[in-house]
Amino acid sequence: MITLQGKGVSRGIAAGRIVFFERSNFVVEKKPVTDTAGEIERFKAACSTAAAQLSELAAKMAEKVGSENARLFEIHCMMLSDTDYTDPIIKMIETQRVCAEYAVMEAGGRLAQDFAEMDDEYMKERAIDIQDVSRRVIAILSGTQQDVTSGPEPVILASDDFTPSETAQFDRSKVLALVSQAGAANSHTAIFARTMGIPAIIGLGASLSSGLANKEAAIDGETGVLYIDPDKKILNELSEKKKRIEKENALLEKFRGKPTLTKGGRKIKLYANIGSVADVEAALGGDAEGIGLLRSEFMYLGRDDYPNEDIQYESYRKVAEKMGERQVIIRTLDIGADKQAGYFGLPHEENPALGMRAIRICLTRPELFKTQLRAIYRASAFGNVAIMFPMISSVQELRSAKELAAEVRKELAAEKIAFNEKTPIGIMIETPASVIISDLLAKEADFFSIGTNDLTQYTLAVDRQNEAISDFVDTHHEAILRMIRMTIENAHKAGIWCGICGMLGAESDLTQTFMDMGLDELSVEPSYILNLRSRIAEM
Ligand code: PEP
Ligand code: MG
Repeated sequence: MITLQGKGVSRGIAAGRIVFFERSNFVVEKKPVTDTAGEIERFKAACSTAAAQLSELAAKMAEKVGSENARLFEIHCMMLSDTDYTDPIIKMIETQRVCAEYAVMEAGGRLAQDFAEMDDEYMKERAIDIQDVSRRVIAILSGTQQDVTSGPEPVILASDDFTPSETAQFDRSKVLALVSQAGAANSHTAIFARTMGIPAIIGLGASLSSGLANKEAAIDGETGVLYIDPDKKILNELSEKKKRIEKENALLEKFRGKPTLTKGGRKIKLYANIGSVADVEAALGGDAEGIGLLRSEFMYLGRDDYPNEDIQYESYRKVAEKMGERQVIIRTLDIGADKQAGYFGLPHEENPALGMRAIRICLTRPELFKTQLRAIYRASAFGNVAIMFPMISSVQELRSAKELAAEVRKELAAEKIAFNEKTPIGIMIETPASVIISDLLAKEADFFSIGTNDLTQYTLAVDRQNEAISDFVDTHHEAILRMIRMTIENAHKAGIWCGICGMLGAESDLTQTFMDMGLDELSVEPSYILNLRSRIAEM
């Protein structure tokens, strides 16, 4: 048995086979072959397997989020039978007598490069698709599993790190736990695992090597220990611990369906953070009283083009309908920084977190923003929807964004399309500037939600993606706590409510502090809700 120590970021116990999520940086060896005909057959068989995987993925995506979203996988599927793609690979195997993996990497890579250099934006974007398809074929050829949906049994998924667009595509029923080499605690690996209520360990470093692929393992998401080939004693201990956690969870069940009240009878809104329609199930399962943060940008990730108004509308409407009377706060597009989608064509930036992201993109591309706002307003006719703008740092930004929202309302009214005219418009408080002017912003917003993940990054000058400085990140820093207090006070002076939707909201050792400050709402990953409700009941 080998024991690896990382940072536990989502509680729970799981045991299963380790599968590496292969994304990039394939180390493909140039192996000579003698049987070129056999090698070509191997390549063709891998293409067939890839096509089958993609059809299955397309069907699943169509069922979950609509057929438009499945288009990307259908395009990939078509490429596999396109001779423009397959011929150069076959030719390379024949003429250079190299293994299929190498031919796919080289010939596929060259084709992708040709597309990347084209003038036409649409054709340029196809380069990413060619790379994606090639990775899938190489993964099949080399026996690594690129996408967890293709295996029969659920697995412990390992990677250097998981990007938001990758987690957005996972078949959740096939992921037992997540383990990663990288270790920024605010990473989307942690957010995804907490949303799904599955254990996760990050920061395992190079010890999480590909040599561990297919090994049996057990994970303790609390202590951050990953056991490779666990012995009987450990398995028994973990099984006992699992039972203990299940017992604790069972005790929390008495809080299900109840309002969140302090001992003194003050009501707190306990909402959930989600990233997609698929997460609504987790939110309802966790007994969320609403959605405090729908990270709408997830809908823009893992695609090859912008989702149009109807695609977005369908998704928002589904979430609103599923949540019924409960509030659904849709955060408008927060793309950029750690959440990149190639088709946005964002230029390379030295400091993307300080660059073109979130509301800045929306205000410079009003048509894109208005498309999203139209979709949200249309969905507002089907539930209790609110709009929230991210990364606001000045009153002018808020005004400009609200003006665009007013334009959209006017257009919809002229087109006689139903929407809720009173849809609240709130903002995220996640820059120090917005905290300092929160008295001014509170006069023009319907609510505040403090994004402590970014607020911590910008206040303490610590890159949330950079694990090397994690020792300098004090999430409980007095500066952050003072900022939260100041924001709540300014919100209340203006008569609006204030919540927290960053990860700090889930830290139960701060719940009492937040209650003392008068916080009105907590929006956390669904698996934290019942525990927080039980704690608040003691306060
Ligand atoms: C935050 O910054 O705290 C937040 C909730 O937004 P995100 O994590 O999506 O940037
Ligand atoms: Mg943020």
